[in-house]
Amino acid sequence: MKYLLYFFTFPSDVVAIPVTYLIGKLFGTGMHREGLCFITELSPHSWPMDPTHPFPLAGWYSKWAGTTLGHGIVYRPSPDQNTRVHEHVHVQQLHVSMVSSFFLGLLVLLITGKIMAAWSVWSAGYLVYILSNFAVAAIKGEDPYMGSPSEKHAYAIGTLHHGHKVDVDSYLRF
Ligand SMILES: [Zn+2]
Repeated sequence: MKYLLYFFTFPSDVVAIPVTYLIGKLFGTGMHREGLCFITELSPHSWPMDPTHPFPLAGWYSKWAGTTLGHGIVYRPSPDQNTRVHEHVHVQQLHVSMVSSFFLGLLVLLITGKIMAAWSVWSAGYLVYILSNFAVAAIKGEDPYMGSPSEKHAYAIGTLHHGHKVDVDSYLRF
């Protein structure tokens, strides 16, 4: 039954999974499965991780733990359990946002009869969700990234890692 989620996330998957595969080919250790997701771990000696690399921006990713592109996830080398849980909280957010945008797209199709407009609305689900989270944090006067509800939830559930603290009191303010 859980594989039905691939139907709703299809417009995201056709981009996220090939991009993750490409990152894995260029900088990572290939691709493996984790739940519904396709995972690549960056190599410690790759350009994004290793600041001694003789290219501009070498090591730029070394302070990050992982990135959820959709059903494709990129991890730093040997990610800990907290990081993996954190990224999979984002995968759940992907699922909800894409199911939501599918039905919005369906509504657009029924109202306008325009399939490309409907497809665009469906496809934009996760991106719009992330940007909406940043916007809500900014409106509240918090840092757009660390203050976003989607990040707070992921850090809270993934517990604390890399020195980031969840401001629990901020939940009570809104
Ligand atoms: Zn996150």
